[in-house]
Amino acid sequence: MIHPDVESVIISEEQIRERVAELGQQISRDYEGDSVLLVAVLRGAVLFVADLARAIDIPVELDFMAVSSYGSSTKSSGVVRILKDLDEQIEGRHVLVVEDILDTGLTLKYLLKNLASRKPASLEVVTLLSKEGKQRVPISCKYIGFSVPDEFVIGYGLDYAERYRNLPYVGVLRPAAYQD
Ligand code: IMP
Repeated sequence: MIHPDVESVIISEEQIRERVAELGQQISRDYEGDSVLLVAVLRGAVLFVADLARAIDIPVELDFMAVSSYGSSTKSSGVVRILKDLDEQIEGRHVLVVEDILDTGLTLKYLLKNLASRKPASLEVVTLLSKEGKQRVPISCKYIGFSVPDEFVIGYGLDYAERYRNLPYVGVLRPAAYQD
C-alpha cells in the first residue's frame, strides 16, 4: 500500500534492505579488528542507523547529534547549529557519521569540521542517499547507499514537516501535499 501523498516510490523497502546489508558488510570488512562509533544525525538518520547497526558484525557503539536543519521548509538554509552534542568523547576512536541524505553538503561540512577538531582516530561518512549534482561544498563520503535525483524525498526517516518518517520506502511527495 503506497501512501496517498506519495507520487512515486523511488527506492523500495527491499532495495533498502539489500543495500543496507551490503553497506554493513563493507563497513565490517573495512573496520575489521576495531570497533566503530556510529554517530547518527538526528532525526532523519534514526531508521537507517538502526538497520545499519544490525547489519554490522564487528563491535559497534552508538551516539547521536542533532543539528538545525530545514524546519518545515524544503530549502537548505545553510545555517547549522548544534542542538544536541555527543554524549561520548571521540578522541582516538573510529567515528563513522551516519546521515540520511547529502544535499548541499553544508550540514556535513560543518559537522565534520567540528568532529575532526576532537581528534578521532578516523572520521568517515555513510549516507543513505546523495542528491545528484546538488553538492555545493565537496564532502568526502566513503559510503553512499543510493544516488537520487534532485527532488525532495521522504520516507525511511526523511520527513516533510515531521511527517512520513515512518514510511518503509523512499518516495517523492505529490505537489498537493506541500503546505508552502
Ligand atoms: P544539506 O546541508 O543541504 O546537505 O542538507 C542535509 C539535511 O537536509 C539532511 O540531513 C536532511 O535532514 C535535510 N534534507 C535535504 N534534502 C532532503 C529531502 O529531499 N528530504 C528530506 N530532508 C532533506
